[in-house]
Amino acid sequence: MIPVDTIRAGDVHVSHLSDGALSGPRRSWFTGADPAEWVPVVGVADPDTPFPVNFGGFVITGDGHVTLVDTGWGHRAHDVAGLDGAGEMLDRLAGLGIAPEDVDRIVQTHLHADHCGWLVKDDAYTPTFPNATVYLHEAELAYWTGDEVEKIEANRKMLAAVRPRVEAVRGRLSTFDGEVKLSDAVTILPTPGHTPGHVCVMVSAGGQTVLLAGDLAHHPVHLDHHHWLPVIDYAPEQSVASREYIAQLAAERDAVVLAPHFPIPTRVQVQLAAGGGFHAVVLDRSAS
Ligand SMILES: [Zn+2]
Repeated sequence: MIPVDTIRAGDVHVSHLSDGALSGPRRSWFTGADPAEWVPVVGVADPDTPFPVNFGGFVITGDGHVTLVDTGWGHRAHDVAGLDGAGEMLDRLAGLGIAPEDVDRIVQTHLHADHCGWLVKDDAYTPTFPNATVYLHEAELAYWTGDEVEKIEANRKMLAAVRPRVEAVRGRLSTFDGEVKLSDAVTILPTPGHTPGHVCVMVSAGGQTVLLAGDLAHHPVHLDHHHWLPVIDYAPEQSVASREYIAQLAAERDAVVLAPHFPIPTRVQVQLAAGGGFHAVVLDRSAS
């Protein structure tokens, strides 16, 4: 079984939940970079060597709320070839003693189909989390419900999955256009680029910070190689700027950075590099 990785910031717990994992070649994550550059940094033999990717999200507890950050593939996970542990995010939640009714907040970092799946049950229109307010950047809502989304083919292909999910929770949406403090410990940070309304989530308590980076980082190397961009990014220059911002914040706060696509468990810290720029360090879990 794919583990749950739980990290503490003061009294607040952040748990990385899988909704499935697979191995695959990921040339598409490194557009703008010559394979000779990124292959050795990622540590694969060649650009077509498969490496692990997780799908899923996070649950934050201990601040008086139960907050999900992203909702995985949902029941569509079973249509994804080669996915280990497909669609088990609710089982991982149950393992933490959390029922769907307990979730009172959901933050969608963005609305790609692998991030908003469990907004609905397997009938595709009943909300899975009946008591949750869904926080969504207003630019993200406008993009996925407007015409512009059709210009990026990969996004157009997701519309059939995404739009019914948005409709299912429309009455529970809380949209915003700026930072949102959800509690003393949890803050939403707009970080556009991957999509128009992409956000990160900062958890800060007891002098410790955990940054949930969404799809600003598909792989830890994206935290120090900010120009290696996924082909699907909506606005590459914005993505680079958002990565600079999150890397700087992570370095200043000595934060632990987690992201849904990192294999579980993967925790990263970002340091200021001596010659300028940043250095992403994957933490050795055997030492923690
Ligand atoms: Zn993604």
